[in-house]
Amino acid sequence: MAEIIVADEAGACYGVERALDLVLRTAEQADGPVFTLGPLIHNPQVVAELEARGVAVTEDAAVPAGSTLVLRTHGVTPEVEQAAHDAGAKVLDATCPFVKRVHRVAERLERDGYQVIVVGEKGHPEVEGTMGHLKAATIVENAEQVADLELAKKVGVVVQTTLAKDVLAGVVAQLACRVDELRVHNTICEATAGHQGACARLAKTVDVMVVVGGKNSANTTHLADIARQHCAGTHHIETPDELQGSWFEGARRIGITAGASTPASQIEVVRQAIAGLAG
Ligand code: SF4
Repeated sequence: MAEIIVADEAGACYGVERALDLVLRTAEQADGPVFTLGPLIHNPQVVAELEARGVAVTEDAAVPAGSTLVLRTHGVTPEVEQAAHDAGAKVLDATCPFVKRVHRVAERLERDGYQVIVVGEKGHPEVEGTMGHLKAATIVENAEQVADLELAKKVGVVVQTTLAKDVLAGVVAQLACRVDELRVHNTICEATAGHQGACARLAKTVDVMVVVGGKNSANTTHLADIARQHCAGTHHIETPDELQGSWFEGARRIGITAGASTPASQIEVVRQAIAGLAG
C-alpha cells in the first residue's frame, strides 16, 4: 500500500480564507446583488460554489447602484476602485493585506526617486494592480529580460507575492551588476515561500507528486514547476477526476501539495481519490 503524504504547508492561505469569509458573510447579509470583480480566486470550483450562493462574477467595475462589488485578493488599480464608487456600488475590499503592502512599498520607492521594477507576470491581475499605483514602472518576468532594460542609477524592486523565489534571485543577480544602487523588497508572501519550500522538500522524497489547484493560478503553476524539478512523476490537476491510476503503478510514496487558492476540503477529496487508485 502506497504512503500518501500531504505537504507540511499546502492549500488555502490567509488572504484567500479572509476573502472567502468576507464574501460569504456579505452574500448572507446584502440587500442587493453581490459581484466579485473577476473570479474571487483562481479556483474554478470555489467560484462555482460562490455563484451557487448568489455571488456573480463581473469584469466591469461599474455594477448597478446598490450592488456590492467585492475587490478580490489580487487588488486593483485606484481607477478601478473609483469607477465602482462612481457607479454607486458598495465596495468591499478583499485585497490581501500582503498585496496592499506591495503597493505601499512600491509607491514609497517611487517617491524616493527609485526606478521601480515589478518582478512578476505581465497581465497577472496582481501585477496590473500594482502598476496602477505607480506613475512609471517596468514589469520584468525573468532574468533574461534584464539585459534589454534601460536602467537608472537607483533601482528599486518589488515582487509579485506568488512568484517563485528563484526567479527573483535571477533578476536581482542581473540587476546588481548594472546599477549603482539596488533596493530589493522581497514581497513574496510567507504563504507562497512556505508552500514552495514544503513542496520541494516533499517532492525530493516521493515517486509521484500531485499538485492541486487552478490551472490559471500562478502560485499553483509555480508549485508544479518546483515539484517537477525534484520529481519526474509530477501532475497538476484541478479535480480528482483528472487522476489516472497508471500514474501510481509501483509508487511507494505519493506526495500532494496545493496552491494558495485550494481549500483543505479539496485536498482531502484528492487524497481519498488517490488512496482509492493507489491502494
Ligand atoms: S498567496 Fe499570500 S499574498 Fe496571495 S492571497 Fe495568499 S496570503 Fe495573500
